[in-house]
Amino acid sequence: MPSAEIVTIGTELLLGEIVDTNSAYLARKLRDLNIDIFRTSTVGDNPQRIAEILQETMARADIIITTGGLGPTVDDPTREAVALALGVGTEFRAELWQQIIDRLARFGRTPTENQKKQAYVPIGAIGIQNPVGTAPAFIALKGSKCIISLPGVPREMEYLTENEVLPYLRKTYQLKGLIKARVLHTAGIGESIVDEKIEALEKLGNPTVGLAAHHGRVDIRITAKADAEDQADNLIAGVEQQIRRLLAKDIYGVDGETLAGSVLPMLTRNNWPLVSLEAGTNGTLSQTLAGEKQDAVFLGGKIITQLPDLDELAIMLQAEQDSLQAKCGMALSLRTVEKQTDVDVVIITPAFRVKKHLSYGGHPKSGPAWAVTSALDIFRRKLAHLID
Ligand code: ATP
Repeated sequence: MPSAEIVTIGTELLLGEIVDTNSAYLARKLRDLNIDIFRTSTVGDNPQRIAEILQETMARADIIITTGGLGPTVDDPTREAVALALGVGTEFRAELWQQIIDRLARFGRTPTENQKKQAYVPIGAIGIQNPVGTAPAFIALKGSKCIISLPGVPREMEYLTENEVLPYLRKTYQLKGLIKARVLHTAGIGESIVDEKIEALEKLGNPTVGLAAHHGRVDIRITAKADAEDQADNLIAGVEQQIRRLLAKDIYGVDGETLAGSVLPMLTRNNWPLVSLEAGTNGTLSQTLAGEKQDAVFLGGKIITQLPDLDELAIMLQAEQDSLQAKCGMALSLRTVEKQTDVDVVIITPAFRVKKHLSYGGHPKSGPAWAVTSALDIFRRKLAHLID
């Protein structure tokens, strides 16, 4: 199995002015191809230092992927640095230059002289045209090692990874295996109970099943290794079916789906606009609701500083609904005494009313996240009951 390292290039990255999302993206893609990845590094726009890092990584890994520093300006040093690391010069590629000219012509522009720099690659490298930007990429080889240099702009980097790099790696290293994962999200059930229910599945070799707990939610990750995507999908589907039989309504979504995302679409369908009211939660409830794609049904949230009791909270929520003509309301009041967090939850809809007191023994800092998760889970279960 080949091993890889990622080197992200850019002084902005090094100084923390931009966050390195390229490494995370590439690491996931390499993992999915079953390529071992042991290190990632970041280096500023200095050709000498980049060359040093590349030589170090070449001593350890078979594949080195760099991102950034392929622009036309003097502080875009990747081409020179890779050439330096490999002990070669750079050479002009007419086809890359032509592609830059053609691409700019489509926007009614002509390239500047310094853009010609982008048509140079280390001597002997494979040039890769960039149909979504002007910085061509390249793959430079030395013995069994290869350095793949991609532009820094995430959209361009991702496009070239999908369309050029991954096919190249699959073919060169004859990589048949891939790894695929699916995450089932549960709420309203503790990690130990989930663990007890699906214990037998957690002992499987392929796919593997693992748990991760997050303040009132438990994620179940199913990871399969297979030669082809549909085989991995089948392996995952078999285990998912068994987990769904065991946990049924405790599961609220998969992969990128959220708990609020399992509630708001139902309100949209019923034309039940929602308002929220919260105390002691730093606005976590309204932020969560407003962060959803379906936020049109969410009219807004109010944060209050007093801590009402459960009955007062219900009266205040009803008043808020009346003033905004919202058919639904959701209220939370949270107070922490010593290490114990008490939460009052009120949910009012045309079909049901919930008034509930909950207690949380976890770290007080996680209280708001836990309270929002718990309240949304109560809401989701009640709505699901209406459909049954
Ligand atoms: P271009 O010529 O298209 O600018 P480039 O290869 O020179 O490509 P850079 O100038 O290094 O790319 O980066 C361009 C922009 O891409 C940066 O300003 C930043 O917004 C984004 N970027 C670069 N590297 C990363 C990274 N590792 N993670 C996230 N974004 C990045």
